[in-house]
Amino acid sequence: MQKILAYAAQDALSPLTPFSYSQRELATDDVAIQILFCGVCHSDLHQARDEWGGSLYPMVPGHEIVGVVTEVGSQVTTYRIGDKVGVGCMVDSCQHCASCEEDLEQYCENGTVLTYNSVHKDGKTPAFGGYATGIVVKESFVLRMPENLPLDKAAPLLCAGITTYSPLKKWGIGPNQRVGVVGIGGLGHMGIKIAKALGAEVVALTSSPQKEEEARRLGADHVVVTRDPANLTPWKNKLDFVLDTVSATHDINPLLQLLRRDGAMVLVGLPTEPLRVAAMDLVIPRRELAGSLIGGIKETQEMLDFCGQHGIVSDIEQIPIQNINEAYERMLRQDVKYRFVIDMHSLHL
Ligand SMILES: [Zn+2]
Ligand SMILES: [Zn+2]
Repeated sequence: MQKILAYAAQDALSPLTPFSYSQRELATDDVAIQILFCGVCHSDLHQARDEWGGSLYPMVPGHEIVGVVTEVGSQVTTYRIGDKVGVGCMVDSCQHCASCEEDLEQYCENGTVLTYNSVHKDGKTPAFGGYATGIVVKESFVLRMPENLPLDKAAPLLCAGITTYSPLKKWGIGPNQRVGVVGIGGLGHMGIKIAKALGAEVVALTSSPQKEEEARRLGADHVVVTRDPANLTPWKNKLDFVLDTVSATHDINPLLQLLRRDGAMVLVGLPTEPLRVAAMDLVIPRRELAGSLIGGIKETQEMLDFCGQHGIVSDIEQIPIQNINEAYERMLRQDVKYRFVIDMHSLHL
């Protein structure tokens, strides 16, 4: 049985440290993957530090996994040894509930098995994520990476990419529409790129004036610095859609006011405190306020293919795994443009 080297959190308070375990035996529908890169998502930090409660330890975080297939089970038909593949936020679901039937495994009514901080369907095997040399995943939860995209920069598509792509698609964003993207971080920078590639006019909304130039470089047509409320006034009732990627507590009412009648604002960030909503801002021009969680496997593949066609990747900073704890601290200070990606070769040293 192959040994997997990894970095794990042993509890909520300690830094991540080296850890190892045996790779599970391949089932007939399993794909074994050598991990080359893994993106560092803000939710890795939240869960490693048990900020959402219920964390399972030891925990090997990481759900923006890219690598190559090293072995396949006897019934696997989609992948061959050497294929470039990815694994996102989920590794299993019931496959037969209404959500799974509609290719929305992330909303599985019987419980999605997440890539980490989760337990497999046998009720006992812990799911270990991508801060590791390898992973074994059921064929139906493995994604094919576009040939033309560099794997390190494409890794964040598997969470940040699909998280922003899915709501833009569900609300039918395309040409002749004006989309506001709130927050220019790991999620927001992908939201700008994808909304732009879908043909929309993109308005970046940021609280920090220093990000103005950056937002334009990422593809925003307009940048609004929200710190001064006067800057929002010209945009009232002007947007068709607002994608809010901010996970810090913030006032969403001035943002709702930017929507035209029947416009929708979708939350993809996860502030821990409940948000206050002024009913007036929803009722009068019949605006929608909604949320969205990653995307199903079919849609994730569609997103990867779309990003391949449009040459969309994440802006990243590569790190060796030994720097992961420092990277977490820098992430908290928003000192990253815009995603850390772990080079997993550093684990073989
Ligand atoms: Zn994530
Ligand atoms: Zn299901």
